[in-house]
Amino acid sequence: PVDSFLPLEEQIPSACAQIQDYPKEGILFYDVTTLFANPEVFRRAMDELAARFEGQFDIVAGVEARGFLMASALAYIAGTGVMTVRKAGKLPRDTYMKEYELEYGSAAIEIHKEDIPAGTRVMLVDDLLATGGTLEAATHLMKMADLEVAGIGVLLELEGLGGRELLAGNRVEALALVS
Ligand code: AMP
Repeated sequence: PVDSFLPLEEQIPSACAQIQDYPKEGILFYDVTTLFANPEVFRRAMDELAARFEGQFDIVAGVEARGFLMASALAYIAGTGVMTVRKAGKLPRDTYMKEYELEYGSAAIEIHKEDIPAGTRVMLVDDLLATGGTLEAATHLMKMADLEVAGIGVLLELEGLGGRELLAGNRVEALALVS
């Protein structure tokens, strides 16, 4: 249980299960599945993120997989559609693809080409901003598709990993900041 009277920026980290040394030594892992399972914190977080970008986006794009859960709720609140930014190899039609670096090796994400009209304003969301590599790659996909990134929304921002710097030029709204 999370204290109902805490401000949202404190409820969010409290609502996450925090796992020391996962997936490796020295990492404190914030598991947002417990936040999604908390009806009060989930609703409050989605209402707040939607409010911060109210009237400024036409569609919500969620990054696989935890971003999907957020994108769907945000789009429902705002009355928009959703789009999925998927891990490479899952989409059946022509795609734009962007590779990016992870701590070990690389990854790639994709969106379908030509599904969303050029100039559409996209609110891009994921659960957590760490180095920013994932969300930066996602902004690149939006540019490839001539979509406008209205802003980026995350539940949690990990300080000191350079994520905000990597995303410079984009509006980034994080509901909570942790170090
Ligand atoms: P980034 O380094 O910003 O590209 O983060 C990549 C992905 O890894 C994000 O979508 C997060 O979900 C996940 N991630 C990175 N660091 C953590 C952490 N400390 N706790 C939980 N998830 C993390």
